[in-house]
Amino acid sequence: SSLVEVQSVTKTYVQKAQGDTPSRPFKALDAVSFAMTKPERIGLIGPSGSGKSTLLRSLSGLIVTETGTVTVLDKTVQSAGRLGEDVRAARASMGMIAQSFNLVGRLSLFTNAALGLLGRINPWRGFFGLWTVEEKQRVMAALDHVGIAERAGQRANTLSGGQQQRGAIARAIVQDAKLILADEPVASLDPVSARRVMELLVDVNERQKVGVIVTLHQVDYARKYCDRILALKAGKIVYDGPADTLGLEQ
Ligand code: ADP
Ligand code: ADP
Repeated sequence: SSLVEVQSVTKTYVQKAQGDTPSRPFKALDAVSFAMTKPERIGLIGPSGSGKSTLLRSLSGLIVTETGTVTVLDKTVQSAGRLGEDVRAARASMGMIAQSFNLVGRLSLFTNAALGLLGRINPWRGFFGLWTVEEKQRVMAALDHVGIAERAGQRANTLSGGQQQRGAIARAIVQDAKLILADEPVASLDPVSARRVMELLVDVNERQKVGVIVTLHQVDYARKYCDRILALKAGKIVYDGPADTLGLEQ
């Protein structure tokens, strides 16, 4: 059983015509394969436009790929040009963290973190804020874990960028995610906040055995906080190996 298995996945977009250049298809992902067999921290790096977000979106089933298969926690997400039937079940185990706008700005930090419970409870209960004592404790424990419990009642849009990212990690903890997919989670943060967010991802990986795949445009961060690096270039994997030997081989 593996956390992630990606086999020969290809995603083609049609590039719009520009001037004399006619529109043509190009491969945002070109026969990409890799697997995560135990909870690792994979840093996904590569130049802008190399396919990093496309790969994350194919893992979460937000886009459909043309060829190949993707399974997450042994549930099929992509298969031969279609989404798998259990993509919703797979998604329930995935925590997603974007570069920004992770939280619903008008809702409290508490409610945002509690949204991690929605896969498991009647959504109306969440809508009306009818959490059980046990659920409240679970949410507060997660907020405490990421160091922002004292802001639980604050509206999300009054939190700093770093606090919002930590709120998104708390939501994934509440969700009991087995895999966190983070797309440039620190790109818009100052270095101190960025470090704190990366350290939390390491912590969640080590203590709760959550697999982490994080796209980063700073190779330093990938080296420092990840144990494995996948480098993409023009839709192809050009490096897959330990974080500490990247660069020595080039
Ligand atoms: P990265 O995350 O590495 O910057 P992306 O995965 O966002 O790269 O994009 C890979 C390529 O696919 C880029 O050339 C991008 O312009 C293109 N692309 C991404 N999404 C779409 C889309 N919805 N339609 C057309 N082209 C797209
Ligand atoms: P972090 O290190 O988590 O990013 P910061 O040091 O940037 O936190 O934030 C400092 C303080 O400024 C925090 O208490 C935060 O609530 C507050 N703050 C940041 N942005 C805003 C905002 N747009 N509105 C209100 N308060 C804010």
